Amino acid sequence: MNLILLHDDDFSSESLVSLCGRRLRHVLDVHRAEVGDSLRVGKLNGLMGEGRVLALTSNRLELEVRLDQQSPPALPLTLLLALPRPKMLKRVLQSVSSLGVKQIYLINSYRVEKSFWSSPLLQTEKLQEQLLLGLEQACDTILPEVHLRQRFKPFVEDELPQLAADTAAFVAHPVTDGACPSAHSGPTTLAIGPEGGFIPYEVEKLQECGFTPISLGRRILRVETAVPVLLSRFCP
Ligand code: SAH
Repeated sequence: MNLILLHDDDFSSESLVSLCGRRLRHVLDVHRAEVGDSLRVGKLNGLMGEGRVLALTSNRLELEVRLDQQSPPALPLTLLLALPRPKMLKRVLQSVSSLGVKQIYLINSYRVEKSFWSSPLLQTEKLQEQLLLGLEQACDTILPEVHLRQRFKPFVEDELPQLAADTAAFVAHPVTDGACPSAHSGPTTLAIGPEGGFIPYEVEKLQECGFTPISLGRRILRVETAVPVLLSRFCP
C-alpha cells in the first residue's frame, strides 16, 4: 500500500481523519509509522497529499491531512476483457487498476465458462476491493468503472460501435499477422480474449466494428501476463 486511500466517512473534519482496520494494521506493521511521521494519502476520487500522524494506537490512527495534488493521468484506454476465472480476475483487476485503466468492460465470449458469471467476485463491493488494491499500489485515487456485459452479440452490435467510435481499436489475438504497435498513444479500445481465445466469429464481429487484430508474437501468454504486456504498449 503506497497510498492510503481515504473515504468520505473517514473524515471527522475537513483535515482530520481517523482510521482503523486494514489500513491501520498496514501503517503499524508495514510503514511502522510513529507520531509525527508523514504518510502519503489520497481521497477516493479526489486529491492526493500528505497525512501527518497525530495519534497511533493498536486500534486507531489519527491523521491531519493536506490534499493538494492531482492523481496521475488516466490511461486513455477502454479495456474489453472476456471474463476470466475468478482467481485470475482478481489479479487482472488489480494490475489493470494500477496501470491507470478507468473503463473496464467484462464481456462474454463463447469460451468463457458460464459459471464464471455467477462468481460472488462480480458483486460491486468485491470488484471495488480489487480495484482499490490497484490504486493503493500505484498511488492513484480515481476508481475505475467496471461494466458487466453478459451477452456478446448485443454488446458488440448495439453498444460497441458508439463506445469505440473515435478510438483506435484493437483485438489481441495470437494467431494473426498484424503486430501489436510498439507504442501507441491516444484514445484506444482494446479487446482481450478468454483463456481459450476468441473464436473466429467473435474476431470477425469485432473487425466489423473497426477492430484490428494484433499479436504479440507466437508465444501464447496467460491472460494475466498478456494484459500488462499489452497495456504497456498503450501507456503514454
Ligand atoms: N488458447 C488461445 C490463446 C488464448 S490466450 C489460442 O491458442 O489462441 C488469452 C488471450 O490473451 C487471447 O485471447 C489474447 O487476447 C491474449 N493473448 C495471449 N497471448 C497473446 C499473444 N501472443 N498475442 C496477442 N494476444 C495474446
